[in-house]
Amino acid sequence: MNIALIAHDSKKELMVQFCIAYCGILSRHSICATGTTGKMVAEATGLPVLRYMSGSQGGDQQIAARIGCNEIDLVLFFRDPLTVKAHEPNEGDILRLCDMHNIPFGTNIATAEVLIHGLERGDLDWRNIVNPRVK
Ligand code: PGA
Repeated sequence: MNIALIAHDSKKELMVQFCIAYCGILSRHSICATGTTGKMVAEATGLPVLRYMSGSQGGDQQIAARIGCNEIDLVLFFRDPLTVKAHEPNEGDILRLCDMHNIPFGTNIATAEVLIHGLERGDLDWRNIVNPRVK
């Protein structure tokens, strides 16, 4: 499965801790991420992470494009609910595209935990059947 990771600055450390905790599961999947999030996760876990641009420089849109092609199976986007971002419309696009393609989308650690356990249990395997292009 292809997993996309994005974390706002105040949530990056939480994302790193999450990825350390679930490194074993994540290592069996392909990870991509926005620039800084990906760098921090890769350094902390040693996992290979395909890194796009930073969110503010278009990384959100790069991930949105892959979602639009139905190439992403799970999005974990740890948002800071208190800070408005200049590129927030792009972030809304990610949510819209996930809804279009029925892609699970977790915006906080509680949802992320449920999704990662579901992933491990095979709850997302239907995506391979629905769309054979999806790895
Ligand atoms: P970043 O981008 O991982 O490069 O910081 C995410 C964001 O939009 O904050």
